[in-house]
Amino acid sequence: MGIANHNAIVVGGGPGGSTAATLLAKAGARVLLVEKEKFPRYQIGESLLPATIHGVCRLLGVSDDLHAAGFIKKRGGTFRWGKHPTPWTFDFGSAEVNQILEFNFAYQVERAKFDELLLNNARRQGVEVREETSVTDVIQEGGRCSGVTLLDRSGRSTEARATFIIDASGNQSRLHAIAGKRVFSKFFQNLALFGYFEGGGRLPAPHSGNIFSCAFPFGWFWYIPLSQTLTSVGAVVAKEHAAKLRSGPDYAMGQFIDACPEIKQLLANATRIENGMYGGYRVRKDYSYINSRFWVPGLVLVGDSACFVDPIFSSGVHLATYSGMLAARSIATILKRGMPEAVGLDIYERRYRLEYSVFYDFLVSFYDMHQDEQSYFWKARKVLGSDQAANHAFLQLVAGAGTTVAEFLRLRERSGELFQLRVDGTVDPNKRSGLLRELMKERDMAQVHLRAVGRSAQMGRQDGLDAPLDFNPGGDPATNDGYRVSPDGLCWERLAESG
Ligand SMILES: Cc1cc2nc3c(=O)[nH]c(=O)nc-3n(C[C@H](O)[C@H](O)[C@H](O)COP(=O)(O)OP(=O)(O)OC[C@H]3O[C@@H](n4cnc5c(N)ncnc54)[C@H](O)[C@@H]3O)c2cc1C
Repeated sequence: MGIANHNAIVVGGGPGGSTAATLLAKAGARVLLVEKEKFPRYQIGESLLPATIHGVCRLLGVSDDLHAAGFIKKRGGTFRWGKHPTPWTFDFGSAEVNQILEFNFAYQVERAKFDELLLNNARRQGVEVREETSVTDVIQEGGRCSGVTLLDRSGRSTEARATFIIDASGNQSRLHAIAGKRVFSKFFQNLALFGYFEGGGRLPAPHSGNIFSCAFPFGWFWYIPLSQTLTSVGAVVAKEHAAKLRSGPDYAMGQFIDACPEIKQLLANATRIENGMYGGYRVRKDYSYINSRFWVPGLVLVGDSACFVDPIFSSGVHLATYSGMLAARSIATILKRGMPEAVGLDIYERRYRLEYSVFYDFLVSFYDMHQDEQSYFWKARKVLGSDQAANHAFLQLVAGAGTTVAEFLRLRERSGELFQLRVDGTVDPNKRSGLLRELMKERDMAQVHLRAVGRSAQMGRQDGLDAPLDFNPGGDPATNDGYRVSPDGLCWERLAESG
């Protein structure tokens, strides 16, 4: 067996990989991150959620960088969806729980810039980053994954070893097969065709930074403002409409736009970008799936490598960064605090599956176009097992705070208003009653998590995602595993230890 020079090797420098690598380095681990491209590189997935910006990115230490980057502020979403023809709008900040967490807004980002910002931060935090280097194989010895084979841009092949390999190589991952089987959703069998436009219209203020999601006879469009003039436009259509692509993407997109008056109007004076990073149309299909397992000894799947579900609520980067954060915590606790590997990685898998299942479950009913927004809100309430107003449950879910409230509250508790509230009562008086109520409710989140785990297993059976998981009942009131996040956000600690 070779000597491990690193505690962890991260494969892929997207948001999932950068997050895992940075937080592990912050916890004191020696981390190598290998990325096959030279950044900045193109990626789809431009509309982000508040939980990413105010939760994970805050922990990564990039809040100021994000602010300075000048990304478009996304205060919510506008939907032409369901049985009524009139568009409806939601603002993240309208829900009390989002106000408390400061989950009031997110950003619409050019991923080339956002991903580079996160990767540069990883470097600053001590991660050794090698771009233009591909992982071509995983070395397996003595029943565990112990290293990778690397191919650099000069064509030189070398080996590198580590205690843990984190596969964050995205939906194209080939390493996920080592951990288990990728099971594609039978429900979400869509195809996305997308491109970029200059000079498209904007929704009226104050919603001009919103994502606009617009249903039309073949599926739905996303319309995402990336700057004052640049817009990302994509059509997500059922696979049976893929035949239109046989006459070329220009023809197909023309047909889709013609069938959607709202998008046609917004693009009336716009020009499609034909060259450079944003030139041409791109197509993605078969993109909703979940792996039967997220880890084996020595290897952990993070982000899209483990699972992905339809982009209607822009959950991809949230799930990637959130899972990167969870994986880093589990690995840091195994490395630094002697937690058994199976315990740490089960905590990881369970929590990631849980967050994924909340989106999956909600999205299945959201695709029922015969409902109105009130029914969707009620569904969100049911999915979260919440007793709050239905529209607030919806806002909590789509902000990325569905199952994560307790842990982000706990991190705030140490440094933010909740801490002030407890220590000297200097919190904004207008927020005081809400904060107190939230503190009381924190323990009740147990029910949400327990129900969601049950549902997750059920959902798997219904949709053919036969991913058995042997979760131990009993334990932590928050997630049923007996652990919660440490005060610095970098490890797990037993509830009994943390007091
Ligand atoms: C049509 C569509 C629309 C979407 N819209 C949104 C949206 O609006 N909002 C949102 O949040 N998400 C959206 N997503 C999802 C989003 O694109 C992904 O969830 C997100 O990029 C996942 O991040 P990641 O870090 O897991 O992987 P990635 O971002 O894919 O990063 C993986 C990295 O690994 C590198 N890599 C791959 N193989 C290797 C190798 N062998 N060796 C070394 N490096 C390697 C790649 O070059 C890449 O940089 C959308 C997805 C689709 C399909």
